[in-house]
Amino acid sequence: MRVRALVVVAVVLIFLHPSSDSVVHGQSSGLVKVTPLGSHAGELCRNDRALLFEDPTGVRILYDPGRTVDETDSRLGDVHVMLLSHAHADHIGDSRPVPGGGTCAAPATGAANANSNFATIAAAKNAAVLAPGELSGYLSRKIANVRGSAPAACAEGGLDNIFDVPGSAPCTASLRPGGSRTARRGGAPTGVRIAAVQAVHSNGVPAALVDTPGEAPGLSGYGGSEAGFVITFTNGLVAYLTGDTGLFGDMESIIARYYRPTLVVPNMSDTVTLGPNEATFMIKSLVRPRTVMPSHVNEQATSGGSIRSGTRVDLFQLFTRDYADVVVPVSDVTRSFDGSGRCIGCR
Ligand SMILES: [Zn+2]
Ligand SMILES: [Zn+2]
Repeated sequence: MRVRALVVVAVVLIFLHPSSDSVVHGQSSGLVKVTPLGSHAGELCRNDRALLFEDPTGVRILYDPGRTVDETDSRLGDVHVMLLSHAHADHIGDSRPVPGGGTCAAPATGAANANSNFATIAAAKNAAVLAPGELSGYLSRKIANVRGSAPAACAEGGLDNIFDVPGSAPCTASLRPGGSRTARRGGAPTGVRIAAVQAVHSNGVPAALVDTPGEAPGLSGYGGSEAGFVITFTNGLVAYLTGDTGLFGDMESIIARYYRPTLVVPNMSDTVTLGPNEATFMIKSLVRPRTVMPSHVNEQATSGGSIRSGTRVDLFQLFTRDYADVVVPVSDVTRSFDGSGRCIGCR
């Protein structure tokens, strides 16, 4: 009887809550730190994809390491959770970085990493790996190649699918649109909720990263569906990481109306993802966040940390700045965001 009464009370509270049609945001204070880990310090460069997030409770999340960071990189520190939007080489990381090598427009390419930078980082950091489609099984195999044994499945406790960090060994889990998991730092009352959302792109595993017996010439491995992510931090910040994608209507109907992101990181490189015009439409008319950080720009976007004229990022910020704060994710510079999506000290 007592359990039934509690259930009734909970259901009544859910229906009375003014935000019952959307995600209920966290209430705690503090700032979320976001650090881009690119190829050249102080600049936004061609290969830059990796972002490191740190929640006020200490949960640290690495998103799409790509070719600019591997497990030997001292910038990483602790990594508790790793997110992979899709398996393309520039996101999973098929070659190791050459710190400071080459130029911002054409960074140097290091040695091939047959297990991927993503998997070697996860193996070294005992990270919880969340990935869409069929990638969690694929990444388990890659982590097993490094460590000699397959990682366990990540825990999914309670109704919030909670796993605690730091872990003592890597784990892997699928995260598909509609689902979410919560990373909780040892004993914290709340955790960081990570949801997968749709992206429109593709998710072939590069043939060079497929283990024996490999793929037929010209084909890539099956990776299932690509994804974006929505991360709801404990201070209330909601970050939408688009992954590689084009425009789709559910950016407005589901991502904006249900998840209500206040910070958006669009992948904006024009031939295979949103271009500046499409990204502007998304920000202005579909998602309407407080702040936007254009990433994956496939160009030397900055010089001395300032936007270069005539670049995609320049065009984007001219189009967008009346509608959202544009923060350029230059490498190694940590930005801090409050619960409303405002970048503190950025202006
Ligand atoms: Zn891609
Ligand atoms: Zn890409």
